[in-house]
Amino acid sequence: MDIMKEVVNLCKNRGIIFQNSQIYGGLASTWDYGPLGVELKNNIKKVWWKFFIHNREDMVGLDSAILMHPRVWEASGHVKNFHDPLVDCKKCKERFRADHLIENILGISTAGMKNEELNQIIQNNQNIKCPTCGAKDFTTIRFFNLMFKTYQGPVEEAANIVYLRPETAQGIFINFKSVLNSSRKKIPFGVGQIGKAFRNEITPGNFIFRTREFEQMEIEYFVEPGTEMEHLEHWVDYSMKFFTKILGIKDENLRKREHSKDELAHYSNRTIDIEYKFPFGWGELEGIASRTDFDLSNHSQHSNEDLIYFDEKKNKKYIPYVVEPSFGVDRTLLTVLVDAYTVEKLQDGTERVVLKLAPYIAPIQVAVFPLKKNEPRIVEVAKKILKSLIGDFNVIYDDTASIGKLYRRQDEIGTPYCITVDFQSLEDNTVTVRNRDTMKQERVSINSLKEFFTKSFSINLDI
Ligand SMILES: [Zn+2]
Repeated sequence: MDIMKEVVNLCKNRGIIFQNSQIYGGLASTWDYGPLGVELKNNIKKVWWKFFIHNREDMVGLDSAILMHPRVWEASGHVKNFHDPLVDCKKCKERFRADHLIENILGISTAGMKNEELNQIIQNNQNIKCPTCGAKDFTTIRFFNLMFKTYQGPVEEAANIVYLRPETAQGIFINFKSVLNSSRKKIPFGVGQIGKAFRNEITPGNFIFRTREFEQMEIEYFVEPGTEMEHLEHWVDYSMKFFTKILGIKDENLRKREHSKDELAHYSNRTIDIEYKFPFGWGELEGIASRTDFDLSNHSQHSNEDLIYFDEKKNKKYIPYVVEPSFGVDRTLLTVLVDAYTVEKLQDGTERVVLKLAPYIAPIQVAVFPLKKNEPRIVEVAKKILKSLIGDFNVIYDDTASIGKLYRRQDEIGTPYCITVDFQSLEDNTVTVRNRDTMKQERVSINSLKEFFTKSFSINLDI
């Protein structure tokens, strides 16, 4: 079974994720979240925020703008260093990433290689030919900056250039002093942010795994220099708990991978990735990087502000070091879908598809069905239940098929509970509540439904 294909189809058919601009033939690698997708995405962001911000006394949140002063990106190194090395095939005009071309054809790592080295390999190695047309006629390497550039105001001139942020992190660094002064936090403390970021990738792909417009959940955690490694290890452990205990991702599909020296970004003295075993191979789910004082130091030098911290207890001044746990929302959502996707053989020989999502992130939490849609007394009770739960849970009403079919439809999108109102309900004021995973049904009093679901959907953050 091609799980990726199954999940992509499910997303399309059930309104989780659509190809963007479909009616115009689609915009490459751009996706829209449908009615169920937006619920799932919001729920993932909500539990992330709960676990990483609300659950900790040392964290606060921020929501900074996508557009920033262009000098932010000069200080951060993005104007100068945030680029991919590209070569063009002179014959068919196809464009490739030089490092990927070498890695894919020769199977060697290009980590840490300089421009000239990449160039030499491409020009001299006879095995490196254009994957599209087979010619061996490449341009020399040119650099292509990954930031999306636009103009602020009506005049398109250099002085008005602004960038769509390629990461949410810098929005946190430039607000470091304001957050520190207003929140009265003491180091160590962190700032979390969820928001869109944009990178003009040459080779996006694998559905929502790598896209040019994406959403990040990032934390910049400020620490005393010299203590960053212990904090880094803490964040790796805490993140693993998020994936396994909060999102319910299977342990065996996760691994930690330490970056080699060659691979480390220029600002980092240690980075550990948490990877997921996607159907297309292991892929980064979260990067936890020790960013040293690279960003705060550079902003101190380039801006009008000294981003120095004064530790009153130790009577010591320093520029804080930073540990950065950085998550992709879209990748997390893809992981959750792939990991939850289950095909079960039933006793009667049929199969059912069920998304075994953690109950509190399911796009729909409870579905209410009337056993007979043309029996007014049953419909009335079902509608009443719907109304009584709607303020507290995401509940829907459905009477468009037989009960068996309705169950299957909800299984497929991961709805943890289905309520059926039947004739017995009219007599004893109870309904059947059917559990998605066990398929067991129990009778629950209508008056205690709220209590039943409150318990079922509570999140245990104390782990
Ligand atoms: Zn070619």
